[in-house]
Amino acid sequence: MAMAQVQTVDPTRIRRMLAQNKAQIRFTLAVCAHCSMCASSCFLYETRGRDPKYMPSHKMIHSIGYMFRRRGNVDLQELRSIGDIVWNRCVLCTRCYCPLGVDIPYMIGLARRICRDQGVYRRYDEG
Ligand code: SF4
Ligand code: SF4
Repeated sequence: MAMAQVQTVDPTRIRRMLAQNKAQIRFTLAVCAHCSMCASSCFLYETRGRDPKYMPSHKMIHSIGYMFRRRGNVDLQELRSIGDIVWNRCVLCTRCYCPLGVDIPYMIGLARRICRDQGVYRRYDEG
């Protein structure tokens, strides 16, 4: 799936959006025990040969988690990689389940919102 082409990243806007959700992100990163129990609830993980890149926790940690750890200081290449995770490896079906209460779809959705705000999103009119 083609992604919109952008030339620059605005870390100030990313920082602002992260700050608005700081408590939830902190909770998520502190609580996630990397137990992989959410994996089997994601049909994409199950139908992509159980590739770890499709595990809900992996997608969450390498998108919103990465941006949060970097305090919003991500470059264009990193943002595009995050965009690939949140747009192409998750459909936000909200079926993933975490027994510890992590709201994985919310976190991936937040990463999508940040990418969208930076101009990194899906294009359906390109090959
Ligand atoms: S999100 Fe929940 S189920 Fe998934 S690895 Fe983290 S703690 Fe385990
Ligand atoms: S919301 Fe995303 S990560 Fe969760 S089950 Fe659906 S496709 Fe998988």
